Amino acid sequence: MIQAKGIAAFSAKEPLGPYSFTRRDPKDHDVVIDIKYCGICHSDIHTVRSEWGEAAYPVVPGHEIAGIVRAVGPKVTKYKVGQHVGVGCMVDSCQECAHCEQDLENYCLKGFTGTYNAMERDGSAPTQGGYSNVIVVREEFVLNIPEALPLDKAAPLLCAGITLYSPLRHWKAGPGKKVAIMGLGGLGHMGVKIARAMGADVTVLSHSDRKKEDALRMGAHHFVSTHDGSAFEKYAGQFDLIINTVSADLNMGDYFGLLKLDGSLVVVGLPENPLSISPFPLVMMRRSYAGSLIGGIMETQEMLDFCAKHNIAPEIEIVPPTQVNEAYTRVIKSDVRYRFVIDMSKIA
Ligand code: NAP
Ligand code: ZN
Repeated sequence: MIQAKGIAAFSAKEPLGPYSFTRRDPKDHDVVIDIKYCGICHSDIHTVRSEWGEAAYPVVPGHEIAGIVRAVGPKVTKYKVGQHVGVGCMVDSCQECAHCEQDLENYCLKGFTGTYNAMERDGSAPTQGGYSNVIVVREEFVLNIPEALPLDKAAPLLCAGITLYSPLRHWKAGPGKKVAIMGLGGLGHMGVKIARAMGADVTVLSHSDRKKEDALRMGAHHFVSTHDGSAFEKYAGQFDLIINTVSADLNMGDYFGLLKLDGSLVVVGLPENPLSISPFPLVMMRRSYAGSLIGGIMETQEMLDFCAKHNIAPEIEIVPPTQVNEAYTRVIKSDVRYRFVIDMSKIA
């Protein structure tokens, strides 16, 4: 077995702390990765605090992983030692259902295997994520990080990047389309940059005025603060597509009215409690309300290559592993500009 050092949650209420555990020795198709950086996604916080159901403690979170190949199993063909690679939210899937066959492992009919807080498909061990120094993953779930992307900035693309890229592609963001991004956090700021590069007209809907300058600097054409409610009248019927990245409870009915005839509001944010909706604004203008979950492996590679080509990277603040708990507190206060990334080389 391979010895691993990590940062784990031991219960919903305690702070995270150091944890030693083992990773499997590489099987034929496995890649052993020395983790250099791991992003902090709000999903890590929802999970370790058991906001989505009781977590299987101890949990080593982290699904925005960037690192360097340490070793490969004898039958690995796609990766070699020294290569820059990434791992996102999935480490396995059934690989044979209709959705996996369409490169939509994220919608695997038997359920994909999460990078942490899940069980390996053979039941051998719980999966543990990227707040650690090493991980072992089958090659089908490893991504190539293009040379143009530095590893620290590549990490958040593995979840935040693909979670916005996939719905923007699916709902055809591009020239002539008016796209709004709700919430300028880790996911939202990637949505702004990617939608802009796709050629859409981009608006940020934020719950205060504080991020206006940042949003415009990142490429948004317009910034709208929703805090006093006047925006819902002023911008009624404006958008083809709205993507909701907000991690907190909201009254969605207000937002449906911002869509044009046949517009779509796509939710990617996953707050603890159900969102309230009134069907009236949907019915009135044949509007759609939809959801989207990360993206498949092929599309994730496409997104990484797109970001490298268009010079797109997240805005990050690097923290040592000892400051994960402080970082969580700041994420919850929306006080992150715009993604924390843990420097895993500093793990004790
Ligand atoms: P984040 O960095 O904390 O960003 C969330 C943003 O929501 C904040 O920056 C803030 O933006 C807004 N917000 C926060 N509290 C709010 C409140 N009380 N009222 C209104 N707006 C508020 O989180 P993230 O990492 O981007 O993740 C966002 C959500 O997506 C989480 O629920 C996460 O679990 C989920 N997620 C889903 C997927 C998927 O595949 N569907 C993948 C990853 C994450 P403003 O300050 O601009 O308003
Ligand atoms: Zn995530």
